[in-house]
Amino acid sequence: MYVHEPFLSHLPKGFQFAGADEETVRTLLLWYGAVLVARGDSTPPPVLIFPNEEAVQRFQVSVKTKRAQINGISIELQTPAMDALLEARQEAQLAHADITPRGVDSSRRSYADTLRLWESRVKPGLAHWVAAHKIARKEARRIANLDPMTQTSEILHQEEGGFYFNLKFDGSILSSVAPPGASQHLSMLALDINEYEIPKVREILARHGWFQTALDDLPHFTYMGVTEAELPGLGLRKERMREMLGEQVFWIPDLVATVSV
Ligand SMILES: [Zn+2]
Repeated sequence: MYVHEPFLSHLPKGFQFAGADEETVRTLLLWYGAVLVARGDSTPPPVLIFPNEEAVQRFQVSVKTKRAQINGISIELQTPAMDALLEARQEAQLAHADITPRGVDSSRRSYADTLRLWESRVKPGLAHWVAAHKIARKEARRIANLDPMTQTSEILHQEEGGFYFNLKFDGSILSSVAPPGASQHLSMLALDINEYEIPKVREILARHGWFQTALDDLPHFTYMGVTEAELPGLGLRKERMREMLGEQVFWIPDLVATVSV
């Protein structure tokens, strides 16, 4: 499946798409897939969606990581990602700026963390659309009880109908949280920072291999381990979005061909 896609030829050997239906896989690849082709001595995750806590832990103990304390917050990343981050931070400080994590869950996350975050959007979303008489109570209960993978497909399907599950119910849940097992934070190659609005900070991070790769998720940066000029060679393309804070550039998988099984 998925032939003729420039991005897919760069995935790790033996890569597994795991479980979800094709449309969901494609959507999740677009939103979170960039990390799968991370370079620079980092280890990209072997799956698009980790199926459970055990699979996450098996991956997390298999890679070398480093911890650092920044502004009283302890963060943990894969070693090359951390080294690049600390160098970028020094450079930012010389330029009278800084690079700091947004909170305690800004770097490493567990499967349970991603499940909890996901549910914190799904539950209010279902309650909202039931109250608005757009989703029947019985249907909402059915969706609430689905396994995470099936539920992800179902929520994305509801959003196609205009029933959104972000915090304001006006945009995709994916711009707000990743589905259980699909977060880039599970691979310890992602960091949410406070200073994402500062062009200089984004420029310094890019020079050290850190880029915005999750559409619409502005504080979220991914360690790709290459220069910007090398990103297209990994099957990534530039997506420009105009935000209130000016133009933002995201690097996302270039999925152009028709999906074929
Ligand atoms: Zn993030």
